[in-house]
Amino acid sequence: MKSIITKYTKNCMLCGTPTTTEHHFLFGSGTRPLADEDGVKGPVCSKCHNMGKIPERIHDNSAAEALSKMVGQLAWEKHQVAAGMTEDEAREAFRRRYGMSYL
Ligand SMILES: [Zn+2]
Ligand SMILES: [Zn+2]
Repeated sequence: MKSIITKYTKNCMLCGTPTTTEHHFLFGSGTRPLADEDGVKGPVCSKCHNMGKIPERIHDNSAAEALSKMVGQLAWEKHQVAAGMTEDEAREAFRRRYGMSYL
């Protein structure tokens, strides 16, 4: 898994059990392929991802979904800053690439 979120991909980032799938921190129409290409994803188990009770999973939990997108944007921008952009440039670059800003 190419991930700019974490290099520790063997365990679910939420509960620590073995990884069974990946979560794209940025998702929605047209967004997921970009997140896939950019590595804005991380290891999760199916229960924490979309199979557990709604308050205990990411998908269909509105607060968790909103926070996921914020984390995804922050990680993406941090990656650009590490490559030499200013924070303002990274924010604008995110807006151009993903068509919106979650922050
Ligand atoms: Zn989990
Ligand atoms: Zn997901």
